[in-house]
Amino acid sequence: MDIVTLVVVIAVIAVVVLGATSGLVISSRRKKQLPPAPPTTPSVTAPPAEPQVGEDAETPRDETRRTIEEVVLPPAEAPVEAPVEEPAAPAAPEVEVPEPTAGRLVRLRARLSRSQNSLGKGLLTLLSREHLDEDTWEEIEDTLLTADVGVAPTQELVERLRERVKVLGTRTPEELRVLLREELLKLIGTDQDRAVATDNAVGKDGQEIPGVVMVVGVNGTGKTTTTGKLARVLVADGKSVVLGAADTFRAAAADQLQTWGERVGARTVRGPEGGDPASIAFDAVKEGIAEGADVVLVDTAGRLHTKTGLMDELGKVKRVVEKHGPVGEVLLVLDATTGQNGLVQARVFAEVVDITGVVLTKLDGTAKGGIIVAVQRELGVPVKLVGLGEGADDLAPFEPEAFVDALIGD
Ligand code: GDP
Repeated sequence: MDIVTLVVVIAVIAVVVLGATSGLVISSRRKKQLPPAPPTTPSVTAPPAEPQVGEDAETPRDETRRTIEEVVLPPAEAPVEAPVEEPAAPAAPEVEVPEPTAGRLVRLRARLSRSQNSLGKGLLTLLSREHLDEDTWEEIEDTLLTADVGVAPTQELVERLRERVKVLGTRTPEELRVLLREELLKLIGTDQDRAVATDNAVGKDGQEIPGVVMVVGVNGTGKTTTTGKLARVLVADGKSVVLGAADTFRAAAADQLQTWGERVGARTVRGPEGGDPASIAFDAVKEGIAEGADVVLVDTAGRLHTKTGLMDELGKVKRVVEKHGPVGEVLLVLDATTGQNGLVQARVFAEVVDITGVVLTKLDGTAKGGIIVAVQRELGVPVKLVGLGEGADDLAPFEPEAFVDALIGD
């Protein structure tokens, strides 16, 4: 009996030991298998690794659960997790492809005609009256003045319209439209070169340097936004751009500009807040030369209502940049909604720096598009771009024909 009991006891011990051993083996194998899983799903697999430690005690049940999770879930998730590769994508920063610039004004004309209604349509309605008496001509004049066309151009236009209408005799709406279109185009001018000058130039030491464009204007007119949008216009036209954040007066301007640049893959050269704008502008052109960029756009500060300060600052920026080579374009940004005030600004800027082109912003928010005529007269330089909204691609090369067609409808 004792021997039998002994044999039974030994047998039981053997079974228990065997069972435990095999359990451990499975468990340890499991553990070895688990680590390889994480690589597939870094963030998802990391947490399951922890429960493993405490689970050793409850081996069978948890092993089963884990097996199901591993066998069933991962394969199911695997395809879903393929996008896990996405994090790799950010390595290449998202660079947008701006809208082509050709025909932008035509595409944005709805905004223009909405805001310009009172000018073009108003003139047509008045000219269509059966009797064009003095009161009507006065109304025509008032319409033009209200739209900020300016006194002298208004008088010239009214004079010409009077003559032509007299010659015409009876007027059909179509004849009137053609006549008004021709006269407005004459007023705006169709033969100026409205392209932004961005061609490479010859630098001081004879080497080729990027085209340099300085963007000037009073803060709040949309200067920095316009610089950013212009970078997009140039990139859309196949040019490479470096931005110079020389508006060190307005705290957020450099960040704002850098964000615009990053969106289209253009580097922004910036300095410390309140730093010397001229040295930033100098460095930006230097960077442009080093990168072999096509164009360097320099955003400047426009805080000033004291002419001396403005002259000192803008003059210095220009002179310092010219140590590299010529500045090809100085664009004055004017807010179309400011009317006569805008003209006063234009005058002040023109006295301190040679303006070569005008950008009229916020034309989407005003019926005063006549300022185009007035500012061109005032400065003797063409409007080259117009801003028609806050969207990234809402800056359009100015095309007189498309503009006038939007004014009077075609
Ligand atoms: P800055 O101080 O002259 O550099 O002015 P910002 O570039 O910061 O622009 C001032 C404000 O004008 C911003 O809210 C711009 O979005 C807005 N803005 C600029 N251009 C246009 C435009 O063409 N249309 C409209 N509606 N808003 C504009």
